[in-house]
Amino acid sequence: MGDTTDVPNRMSDNDEPDRLGEFDLIAAYFRPLTEGRPEALDLKDDAGLLTPPKGCQLVVTTDALVAGQHFLADADPECLAVKALGVNLSDLAAMGATPAAYTLALAAPKPIVPGWLQTFASGLGDMQAAHGIFLLGGDTVTTNGPLTLSITALGWVAAGQALRRSGAQTGDDLYLSGSIGDAALGLLVARDGRTLAGVDGDAFLRDRYDRPRPRTALGPRLVSIATSCIDVSDGLAADVGHIAKTSGLGAEIGVQDLPLSDAARAALAADPSLLKTLVTGGDDYELAFTAPPSSAAAVATAARESGVPVTRIGTMTTEPDVRLLGPGGAMLDLGPGGYRHF
Ligand code: ADP
Ligand code: MG
Repeated sequence: MGDTTDVPNRMSDNDEPDRLGEFDLIAAYFRPLTEGRPEALDLKDDAGLLTPPKGCQLVVTTDALVAGQHFLADADPECLAVKALGVNLSDLAAMGATPAAYTLALAAPKPIVPGWLQTFASGLGDMQAAHGIFLLGGDTVTTNGPLTLSITALGWVAAGQALRRSGAQTGDDLYLSGSIGDAALGLLVARDGRTLAGVDGDAFLRDRYDRPRPRTALGPRLVSIATSCIDVSDGLAADVGHIAKTSGLGAEIGVQDLPLSDAARAALAADPSLLKTLVTGGDDYELAFTAPPSSAAAVATAARESGVPVTRIGTMTTEPDVRLLGPGGAMLDLGPGGYRHF
């Protein structure tokens, strides 16, 4: 964690009375997020301590967000917290892991504004409560650079059972959780000021961009059912492409089978050219996974038990590439970026 080189920069060196020192700041905003769990040692020791459940492997993932690069410097701190934790939990879900805890490294320009931290911590608190995890530790430093958030999420999976991208088989069904393309449409609304689906629809789409809902209830239930799994962060076509390529296969996706939200459906009806955005846009944090047709009932049970809708959208093929099929099976070419060739 911190070393001597950052001492002149530490918030604890700050003698202005309206600013909190590092330890006060940790106590005020971060200790409550441990929820008193003994593993976090009240954030008073050098590290946290997790005991693995019997027969489990630790699943570890880290994602960093940099102001000006991954979010706007004036972004709502609550959204930022939800996104920073959400993208990590989505990676755990894609591995079939049950989330356990997370650590947070915060590098913030001076001065750190208590109101900002309060809102940020409350976003983390809501998100961790929704997914049954707690803050295990972290580091807090100041920086002359942009605000940078790095979260490491930790989870458990039965040893040897983690879902990988590489296990898809020819003839497997391809499934998708939730709905696709909402976040990419939400970005058009938020960034470009587009009106796509009316006031309520546009608000829904923006929310889907701002607040990922990682599928932590579904992922672990797919263990020993799914042959491969990925979370859709780069866009459906690209991420199904990752499954296909690492499995040495291709995929066919039926465009008419894609699960669309009411808002996305309205946007597409008004502007059919948005189909490409739906299929290639990122940030949905849904799960795409494969399973043999004989597992269809088990997939349906996993969806029902997790409360996450799952739709069969295609098939894994021996022939490489991801192909999008329109009504009647005609191949759609969405142009550059529409699908990936390998
Ligand atoms: P060290 O100097 O031993 O690395 P620190 O002084 O950086 O420890 O941190 C003290 C304690 O506070 C540690 O338990 C650390 O995990 C915790 N901590 C510091 N910053 C954060 C943070 N942003 N979120 C959670 N815990 C934190
Ligand atoms: Mg430290």
